[in-house]
Amino acid sequence: MLLFYSTNSNYHSEFNHIKVNLKEALLNGQAPDRGLYMPESFPTISTEELYSYSQKTYPEIAYQILNRYTEGIIPKETLYSLCIDAYNFEIPLEKVRGTTSNYILRLDRGPTASFKDFAARMMARMMSLFICESNEEITILTATSGDTGAAVANAFHNVPGIKVIILFPLKEVSERQRKQMSTLSGNITTIAIKGKFDDCQALVKKAFADTQLKKHIKLSSANSINIGRLLPQSVYYFYAASRITECKAPVVFSVPSGNFGDMMGGMIAMKMGLPIAQILAPVNGNDSFPNYLKCGEYQKIEPSRNCISNAMNVGHPSNLARLISLFGGQMNEKGEISHPADLTKLKEKVYSVSVSDDETQKTIISVWEKYQLLLEPHGAVGWNGYQRWLEIHPERKDIPAICLETAHPAKFPQHIRELLGIIPEAPLSLSSLDSLSEHYKTMDSDFDLFKQYLLDTVLK
Ligand SMILES: *Cc1c(COP(=O)(O)O)cnc(C)c1O
Repeated sequence: MLLFYSTNSNYHSEFNHIKVNLKEALLNGQAPDRGLYMPESFPTISTEELYSYSQKTYPEIAYQILNRYTEGIIPKETLYSLCIDAYNFEIPLEKVRGTTSNYILRLDRGPTASFKDFAARMMARMMSLFICESNEEITILTATSGDTGAAVANAFHNVPGIKVIILFPLKEVSERQRKQMSTLSGNITTIAIKGKFDDCQALVKKAFADTQLKKHIKLSSANSINIGRLLPQSVYYFYAASRITECKAPVVFSVPSGNFGDMMGGMIAMKMGLPIAQILAPVNGNDSFPNYLKCGEYQKIEPSRNCISNAMNVGHPSNLARLISLFGGQMNEKGEISHPADLTKLKEKVYSVSVSDDETQKTIISVWEKYQLLLEPHGAVGWNGYQRWLEIHPERKDIPAICLETAHPAKFPQHIRELLGIIPEAPLSLSSLDSLSEHYKTMDSDFDLFKQYLLDTVLK
């Protein structure tokens, strides 16, 4: 059975013994030493099996990959039906008109119209299975800048044994994003915090660290600190490569990044043997990672900067601890590096650049004019990052490049209208929200208030 270690433990003997299986890693969310769980080793996939993926459907590929991690924990047939059930929507891979080898992978056709559905839907199904086995009740706390909350709320809605509490910054999410969370009710509670995303995240972190809460409530996380978010996010890399090169020749992926959970899915795919030439992880104005690659010193951005690609407004990406661990280093939850990573090797595999709001907007306009390609702000950061990489590596222009579009343009109708003069057509999942009634609570950013609220609602 595959075990998971904590990124805080490898150099500290005190916690060296903490290794858990997937079930515990998922239910704990974060390791007790506040590190993040990582697989002890990566199962590799033979080239023969990789080649066979071009003939398989998305749920079949998901089953093959995830089974490596769930063996001994989830029976094969059960996992297979979870995959069929979770991935019941389209995953368009569009060739960009007029290019020979550029593609857009649209990960925005799930029920909440962002790529977060891929992970949330699988994680909810796995957690529900584990909860049923153990007869426990669990409360999932999640801070969101918009898309995570929506995907998690939707995926966990009406799952027995699980309560979900979502904190979002009152003034920083769009109306549609808010309605995706606040119209569900039942086991989903939504709280608007009078503050920024960082305040929401700080409240959640404090709750995890609070010993009194821990005694009364079994808390878990659905943020991308949970390894259950990352494993399913490796699958679409295999899927996309199988459709373009049958996994026989390397491809480049450009992944617009905030907390770096999405790009870590790509790193996992690479570790499992998928031929990836390089992963591009462009960011918005929150540029702590490209600065780190440049100078080897890490400095988080505090407070995080507000950019139009709002789901990527992250000043200290939590998954960097995992990335650095993969390259032999160690970073704790505060962003302090106690053991440096092999920066040369890291840069061979990963490229990053900061894309400003102005460049993002110009990209949305230029790809529309040049290719009739409709991108929203996050996807535009991804495309721009690829162009910047090409400027440095013109010799690599023939390597097939897949840019991830992580949200549906109709989630950002006002930006698209201002820039292009059109209103993107909303999928039914978004347009049907307009007439539903909302239930959410508004709260000051105050831990004592929040804690009392948790005790009152969860224990009642
Ligand atoms: C969450 C999100 C991102 C960033 O993904 P990370 O895994 O946090 O790097 C990018 N785009 C959209 C639309 C998102 O919702």
